[in-house]
Amino acid sequence: MKELWSNSIRGLEPYSPGEQQAIDRLIKLNTNENPYPPSAAVLSALRDAVNADLRLYPDPEGKALKQTIADMHGLDPANVFVGNGSDEVLAHAFFALLKHELPILFPDVSYSFYPVYCALYGIKYETVPLDDNFRVNVADYARPNGGIVLPNPNAPTGMALRPDQFRSLLERCRNSVVAVDEAYVDFGADSLVPLVKEFPNLLVVQTLSKSRSLAGLRVGFAIGDANLIAALDLVKGCFNSYPLDRLALAGAVAALRDREYFETTRAQVVESREWLAKELSMLGFQVLPSSANFIFARHPLHDALEVQQQLREKKILVRHFTQQRIAGFLRISVGTDEECRRLVEAMRGILRDSGSRP
Ligand SMILES: *Cc1c(COP(=O)(O)O)cnc(C)c1O
Repeated sequence: MKELWSNSIRGLEPYSPGEQQAIDRLIKLNTNENPYPPSAAVLSALRDAVNADLRLYPDPEGKALKQTIADMHGLDPANVFVGNGSDEVLAHAFFALLKHELPILFPDVSYSFYPVYCALYGIKYETVPLDDNFRVNVADYARPNGGIVLPNPNAPTGMALRPDQFRSLLERCRNSVVAVDEAYVDFGADSLVPLVKEFPNLLVVQTLSKSRSLAGLRVGFAIGDANLIAALDLVKGCFNSYPLDRLALAGAVAALRDREYFETTRAQVVESREWLAKELSMLGFQVLPSSANFIFARHPLHDALEVQQQLREKKILVRHFTQQRIAGFLRISVGTDEECRRLVEAMRGILRDSGSRP
């Protein structure tokens, strides 16, 4: 039947997201969603937006949302692009800014969507190995390239770089776009948004899915020089005039305005992360230092895939990646205190029952 398919899609492999199960009382620590609900102001804005205006198309430019984001950073709306989740924003960035003669660069251990976009758009890429401690070494990226994509904090390691480390990279790579995926930045890293005015080649991508508890609403955005934003707007205008619907626009503005709720919930997630990291270390896990809302850890004596499956039997989902370099690790999203406590309890039981194996 594939004769009916376009040639260009025949070899494509889609990104595989963590499973979304509707099992009762499941503890879901596999897709880095926020364990806390969206702010009450968001829910109320959404309810208000459920009205007869839904017969009308939404604002194609999302002006109110762009303005809200620009105001937060003392920038102009022309420095802001908004899209249907940061995955869509990233997809447009790959096509609009990262397809050149030279290959683009990203880490060997990173967000597994990047190679998927490259395959979709026919973009050449090279991966740059993390060092033995799973750190990004920015000096490794200072070579001829068609662009650079770096998540900060990196996924799935959770480890972050400091802005001064990026500064040297941005200075050395002025002729290519450096796209920094800040999906998890609010949980403990410093954003590069303040560097946007200084570096016309820097694109910062953020999302409301994680730190704003809105994975279900699908809102992401990019901040950068107006020239980069114009390229994204052009591609978006050739693809979908209305990527953000009326509800998404209303909810996103309300979420960004509720600073207090944001600060409270992110502090809570950070506190739970530290507790979880400490408990897992005491169970013998090697825990990478996380600046995100998840923990990346391996146990020297236990098979990660087996532990994942045993947790699953106890109705706790965590994520395991088959990529060889990280196959010994589990990525565990930070849940509520109660969820973290139950995860640790379950883990203790599993490690005890299965005994230590080399
Ligand atoms: C979650 C995530 C995204 C995508 O988030 P959206 O829900 O599409 O906004 C992008 N990059 C990384 C590294 C992520 O973990």
